[in-house]
Amino acid sequence: MIVVMTTSHTDAERTAVFDRLKELNLQGQAITGIERSVIAVLGQVFPELRDELSTMDGVDEVLRVSKPYKLSSREVHEQDSVIGLQHGVQVGGGRPVVMAGPCSIETEEQLWESASGVQKAGAHILRGGAFKPRSSPYSFQGLGVEGLKMLAAAGSQLGMPVITELLSLRDVDACAQYSDVLQIGTRNMQNFVLLSEAGKTGKAVMLKRGMGATIEEWLLAAEYILSEGNPNVMLCERGIRTFETATRNTMDLNAIALVKRLSHLPVISDPSHGTGHWYLVQPMSLASIAVGADGLMIEVHPNPDHALSDGAQSLTPANFQQLMDGVSSLGDAVGRPVAERPQAVAQS
Ligand code: PEP
Ligand code: MN
Repeated sequence: MIVVMTTSHTDAERTAVFDRLKELNLQGQAITGIERSVIAVLGQVFPELRDELSTMDGVDEVLRVSKPYKLSSREVHEQDSVIGLQHGVQVGGGRPVVMAGPCSIETEEQLWESASGVQKAGAHILRGGAFKPRSSPYSFQGLGVEGLKMLAAAGSQLGMPVITELLSLRDVDACAQYSDVLQIGTRNMQNFVLLSEAGKTGKAVMLKRGMGATIEEWLLAAEYILSEGNPNVMLCERGIRTFETATRNTMDLNAIALVKRLSHLPVISDPSHGTGHWYLVQPMSLASIAVGADGLMIEVHPNPDHALSDGAQSLTPANFQQLMDGVSSLGDAVGRPVAERPQAVAQS
C-alpha cells in the first residue's frame, strides 16, 4: 500500500501518518520522488486500513501495490533510481557505467595490471574478489582482508570506486570498510540474513540474480536490503542455469528489459559469468546495453591463461579496450552514451 500525500501537506500531517502506522505495527518508509511525496506501508496490511488512511489530513490518496515486492517496484517509485558513488560516478539514470577488474585479486602486480588497464580504457568502477565462493573447497579462496586492502588502495590511486563480493556475515565489517559497493553473489541471493546486514551498512549493494531464481524472487530479495532503509540497491543479471551446456550460463536479456519496466532500480549485466567465454563477452555486452542495462560488469585479467579463477571468461586489457570502444559506439547509437569517466581521473 502507498500513501500519496497532497502537494500542500504539512510536516505534522506527515508525522501523524507515520505515528498511526507505528501504532498498527506497520513500517512506513518515505519515498522521495520528483512529483509526489509518498509513504510506502510495509507489513501485513488489511483492507480497512486504506479507508482509514485516506481520511487523514494531508493524504491525497491511498493506493494498493499489486506486486508482492514493494520498495523495488515502479508502482511505488516511478523515476529511475540513481546511486551516487565516490569520484562523481552515478549508477542508473540513463548513462551506462562499466565495472571491470579481475575475478579474484591474486597479487598486487596482477591487480595493478588489470586495474590500470581498465581505467585507461575508460572503466568507471574497479571490481575484484577477495572472498571467493568456489565450487570446490580446494580451489583458490581469495586473499581475504589483504585483498580488500589492495583493492581499496588501487581504487584510490586510480580515482575509481570499488566493488567486491560480500560472501558471509563474518566479512560484513571488513567489506564495508574497504569497498564502495558490496556485491551479493548468485549463491547468496536468498541468504536473507546477509541481505539485511548488507542493507544495514548503508553502503551501495549490487544484488546478483540467483542462478535458479525467478525475477519475482530476485526483486523480493532486493526488498530485504531496501526495507533496512537503504535505497542504494542495484541488480545484476549474470545468467541463469538452463539445459544448455555450450555456455556456462544463459544470459537472460528478457530479464534486463523486463526488470527495467517493473523496477526503478539500476540493472547491471555481467556477460562474463553469463557466457563463460571471453569471446562472447563483447557481443553480449552490446546486446545488454541495447536492451536497457544501466551498466556492465566485466572480468579482466592480464594473463587469463594463468588466472586462479574464471580465466576462460576473462578479457585481456587489450580486448577490454576493444569492448569499451564497441560499447561507446553502441551507447551513442541508442541515445544512452556511456557515462563520463570518474571525476578525479578526468581532472588529471
Ligand atoms: C564473481 O563476480 O566473480 C562471482 C562469483 O559472481 P557470481 O556470483 O555471479 O557467480
Ligand atoms: Mn568470477
